[in-house]
Amino acid sequence: MLKSALLWASTNPTMAQRLPKYGFVRRAVRRFMPGENPEDALREGGRLAGEGIPTLVTCLGENVTTESEAQKVVDHYRSLSASIREAGLDMELSVKLTHLGLDQGTALAARNLATLAGEASGIVWVDMEASPYVDATLDAWREARARHDNVGICLQAYLHRTERDFEEILYETPHVRLVKGAYMEPPDIAMPQKSAVDEAFRKLASRMLRERHAGRMGRPAIATHDERLIGDAKRIAFEIGLPADRWEIDMLYGIRSQTQRTLVRGGVPVRVLISYGTHWFPWYMRRLAERPANVGFVLRQMVSR
Ligand SMILES: Cc1cc2nc3c(=O)[nH]c(=O)nc-3n(C[C@H](O)[C@H](O)[C@H](O)COP(=O)(O)OP(=O)(O)OC[C@H]3O[C@@H](n4cnc5c(N)ncnc54)[C@H](O)[C@@H]3O)c2cc1C
Repeated sequence: MLKSALLWASTNPTMAQRLPKYGFVRRAVRRFMPGENPEDALREGGRLAGEGIPTLVTCLGENVTTESEAQKVVDHYRSLSASIREAGLDMELSVKLTHLGLDQGTALAARNLATLAGEASGIVWVDMEASPYVDATLDAWREARARHDNVGICLQAYLHRTERDFEEILYETPHVRLVKGAYMEPPDIAMPQKSAVDEAFRKLASRMLRERHAGRMGRPAIATHDERLIGDAKRIAFEIGLPADRWEIDMLYGIRSQTQRTLVRGGVPVRVLISYGTHWFPWYMRRLAERPANVGFVLRQMVSR
């Protein structure tokens, strides 16, 4: 119930306008993002690098409404890429295609993605958004990938179609980030049962690690905080002898930070996604929906000052 309400709120424009004005909501969101400016993300990227943890970075935002807005986002990411290079950080970009103009056309989003990939020092990862965008996202990713090898794609284990999508893109030796999936989807599109999603994730993660070992795909990024699934991935990578520089576990900034450090100390490759920006409301609602107990933390912020 609460999960559905939070996912509904994530798409509600009135709430997106009102809630961020409350101080307690702003205080609560700091747990998941270091600040609203690129400098905040770069600073935390530097700190995590000191702990042996490379990072991903995203400027929060989605669904721009004009081509010129999309261009501003591209310019922002180009300048961020330059700052990353200057700082000498292993920090890769993670972008949403609706932020780069997907609603204005697949070709525009693909062109903007290719521009970023052409200037980035590492992989530019494409997030996967709600199900109506999956086909266009895969098309734009393919177009950009035809020009640059360093473009990765996210696949969501909860979608019934994902196993087939994986088979279809495999011939392109793709870099793939696997996630469970964060949007509200109907049961004919996404598996409603958590146990089924976990099983689909486990199966695909295992397949990805083995395909990587066989040289048939690029970097597999197993993106989860689920300790059992992380344990499975570790075990498989060890069993098949996949070296630590050939795959990774991806996690979000501020979630299970101690586990992130423990894994790295144990030789498991971990990369952490840092988000920043002013358009954090829908993204933050999805984080609360992933673990509704987080709402208690928001309420404690309301009474703490
Ligand atoms: C690097 C990265 C990139 C992602 N990119 C996308 C994307 O492009 N598209 C997309 O749809 N989704 C994306 N996601 C989100 C993903 O789909 C899941 O919603 C999210 O990762 C939670 O699922 P889980 O695998 O951690 O498992 P869960 O079963 O949800 O969580 C396992 C445990 O992790 C902890 N945990 C998980 N989430 C939270 C939280 N928000 N707050 C506190 N504790 C938590 C809890 O202890 C929980 O019991 C991404 C996630 C990561 C880590």
